[in-house]
Amino acid sequence: MSIPYTLGCTIGGEEEANKRFNEILSVMELEEVTYISVKISAIVSQLQEADHDGSVSRVAEKLRKIYSKAQEENVFVNLDMEEYRDLQVTIDVFKKLLDEESFEKLYAGIVLQAYLPDSHAAFEDLIAWAKRRHEKTGAKIKIRIVKGANLAMEKTEGELNGWKAAPYESKEEVDASYARLINTAIDSKIKDFLTIGVASHNLFHIAFAQTLAQMRGCKEQVEIEMLEGMANPEALAVKERFGSVLLYSPVTSDEEFPAAVAYLVRRLDENTSEENYLRASFDIAPGNKQFNQQAKRFIDSIHMSHVVNTDSRRRAVQNDTRENAFKENIFNNQANKDLTDPKFIELIKNKEYVFGKTLIPVVVSGREYLNLEHKNGLEPGKNGQTLYSYN
Ligand SMILES: Cc1cc2nc3c(=O)[nH]c(=O)nc-3n(C[C@H](O)[C@H](O)[C@H](O)COP(=O)(O)OP(=O)(O)OC[C@H]3O[C@@H](n4cnc5c(N)ncnc54)[C@H](O)[C@@H]3O)c2cc1C
Repeated sequence: MSIPYTLGCTIGGEEEANKRFNEILSVMELEEVTYISVKISAIVSQLQEADHDGSVSRVAEKLRKIYSKAQEENVFVNLDMEEYRDLQVTIDVFKKLLDEESFEKLYAGIVLQAYLPDSHAAFEDLIAWAKRRHEKTGAKIKIRIVKGANLAMEKTEGELNGWKAAPYESKEEVDASYARLINTAIDSKIKDFLTIGVASHNLFHIAFAQTLAQMRGCKEQVEIEMLEGMANPEALAVKERFGSVLLYSPVTSDEEFPAAVAYLVRRLDENTSEENYLRASFDIAPGNKQFNQQAKRFIDSIHMSHVVNTDSRRRAVQNDTRENAFKENIFNNQANKDLTDPKFIELIKNKEYVFGKTLIPVVVSGREYLNLEHKNGLEPGKNGQTLYSYN
């Protein structure tokens, strides 16, 4: 089966967001469309991590219409996962809407990225919630498990803000995390309310998932997912061997083609990155060098899956290395505060933290300087009212 994968990465303004949103609704009306994959950042503009609740309610407003349309047209809707900063909003909006009376029986999906250690806690949370929902309404959900496609973007964001990037640092850890998620998810105790999409072009991990599913009596729980045009011979082989494969076809109109570029760059990256399976796949054959390298990577991922650290990297203490560097006379700027951190959001919800009558000091080497020239920080949304002063 081929599935539309609506292209359109993070958009600039609300007008563009509305346009994409309306396009999604009209694609869902096409008779041949029974399954669709959507990113929250493509339907709502300017999502703000600091305003978590506001972001959830703005996405919910649009997604509610998509879910209603899904029920009318009998279309399955899957929420893609893009950036780390959207993780919690995506999960919260997904749970919020599927708990609403109109959607309490809706079968819908979400994605988790194995390159984020945080996905393990997110998985546990989704399972506990899906179990309660199933007990109440009999409904089920789907989780597509991917490794994660935005590594370069996450690394850049981390570097610019002085944070540890959210994903694991090595492919070994990502592979181990992927194997761990697959191993946890394929389980006869949860199969009644959870379908697993194993989305990968790596035949070792696909075969692992299928073998586990077979051994554990969970064949119906697992769907293998691939992207059109990336590994077509593999897709055909998987279909022949395991019966079916969900093949996502990216779609965009001619005039929107620039929206496809980010998607194509990610795919180019996937085909060319040094350690990736697809790069090896051009020459792979049983027993040759590429095969042995990829087989070793796979076996290592299974061993390491039992011990891979699942603590959040982004939430880890961020400043250790900065402070150590400072002691050695290496200057680093102070890291920005992390707007995805619920503890920090709690602090800024109490506006005094930022606004109040604060006089913000200059801090050099831990020492505060308050008696320099003062200027006022103004709030343009409130007739230029003074919110704080700074040195
Ligand atoms: C049907 C489908 C749907 C998808 N949907 C999404 C989605 O919603 N969101 C999303 O983010 N991705 C999505 N992807 C892409 C996916 O996350 C992977 O990027 C892609 O499938 C490659 O993983 P693999 O298992 O096929 O290949 P492999 O070659 O085994 O793994 C490649 C992956 O390993 C990781 N990696 C590679 N090198 C390093 C390194 N040096 N350090 C750390 N990690 C490294 C990266 O995550 C890279 O993508 C989707 C893929 C498919 C097939």
